[in-house]
Amino acid sequence: MELLQTGHLLRNKSVAIVGGGPGGLTLARLLQLKGIQVKVYERDVSKEVRVQGAIVDLHFDSGLRVIAAAGLMDAFKASYMPGADKFRLVDKDGNMLLDEHAKEGNPDFGDPHFRPEIDRGALRNILLDALMPGTVVWNSQLTAMEQVGDAWQLSFNNGTAAVADVVIGADGYRSKVRPYVTNIKALYSGATIIQGEIEEPEKECPEMYTLLQQGNLIAMGAGKSIAAQPRGDGGLTFYASSLYPENWVSTSGIDFNNSEEVYAWLESYYQGWSPVFLSLFKACTRFVPRPLNYFPLDQYWNAQPNITLIGDAAHLMPPSGEGVNTAMLDAWDVCECLTDGKYTDIPAAIAAYEQQMRARAVVLGKEALDSIKDFAAPSEESVQAMIQQLGAG
Ligand SMILES: Cc1cc2nc3c(=O)[nH]c(=O)nc-3n(C[C@H](O)[C@H](O)[C@H](O)COP(=O)(O)OP(=O)(O)OC[C@H]3O[C@@H](n4cnc5c(N)ncnc54)[C@H](O)[C@@H]3O)c2cc1C
Repeated sequence: MELLQTGHLLRNKSVAIVGGGPGGLTLARLLQLKGIQVKVYERDVSKEVRVQGAIVDLHFDSGLRVIAAAGLMDAFKASYMPGADKFRLVDKDGNMLLDEHAKEGNPDFGDPHFRPEIDRGALRNILLDALMPGTVVWNSQLTAMEQVGDAWQLSFNNGTAAVADVVIGADGYRSKVRPYVTNIKALYSGATIIQGEIEEPEKECPEMYTLLQQGNLIAMGAGKSIAAQPRGDGGLTFYASSLYPENWVSTSGIDFNNSEEVYAWLESYYQGWSPVFLSLFKACTRFVPRPLNYFPLDQYWNAQPNITLIGDAAHLMPPSGEGVNTAMLDAWDVCECLTDGKYTDIPAAIAAYEQQMRARAVVLGKEALDSIKDFAAPSEESVQAMIQQLGAG
């Protein structure tokens, strides 16, 4: 790896990143390019643990820009999923409302509208392969931290501990680092997703597989929707979304580990929908309910001298296709603030980063909240608006 000049504020300092998701690994790569000592402490027991959660699309002015800055565009181009960005919108009967597969011409790299999709596991591997050996300390779930002089001591569930001068929490929406920065808690958006995984969709739900065309599909009916995407390993992920009361997952009486119980619920809730969607539910043996939470848009805390947050740990929002992209932009911004020589000390650099991060998150968070209800519980008007918006894109 070719190293650039040693970062000013972090010269002779050690950085601990907690969490090896897209935000944490991107940050580690960017810091190492500047010659900074960094470790990533990750809860997963090893690199081989399969990363869950379908595919993500990277955007021109965020995720792709950071991938390029990290020197990883060639690796990305070798691993993305051509064609998976194509999109279909159908109604509850499976009638086509919008079909990008039928459109002429495909956007490509360099086009601001091109949003290539990549399997989460492939993205993780690209970032991992770019790090110096031993950067990621696996099987290290942070359980507590303590300030020791000007540094932090981190304790992990495997009984080990580590010390670092600067801690960056990239440990997602249930962050263990966040309480050391702020006590602001997440709120419920009103929408819940039931996520399902199908290993061999070609065999297990062939009609749905054909409808998907190895791209993104959204089916919208009054008050509920289904989104489906291919996975990089040939599997399929779907999200059945609707508005449910807070704590519905625990109060519904459904045992989400029992796929027959979940299927029975979905069969009755999606009554009147095309059999193709019911066959999708039937093919699924692994469901995960996900209430969609978010951190308040007006959240504010005074910057701490040597600890900060990036990605979902900082600004969880309902999914809107921006989460991974934003986590990568946070990584870029915090790395720049700490190393570009503009700030006199680390606290000033962290304060500047957090201002940029919050300004961005408030805009994206509002868009995500505004759109989640239309997505999870569409009306005729919201479907028409989506057709216009996506049809124009
Ligand atoms: C259903 C759904 C669909 C989504 N679809 C998209 C999409 O299409 N596009 C998109 O851009 N975004 C999408 N998102 C949002 C996206 O997943 C997140 O915004 C993004 O993953 C955040 O990245 P991160 O690095 O901040 O955190 P995460 O990806 O959550 O990574 C956190 C990492 O920290 C580790 N960790 C957690 N706790 C600890 C601990 N105590 N100690 C050590 N390690 C720990 C975890 O194992 C994980 O590796 C979706 C979200 C959901 C729920």
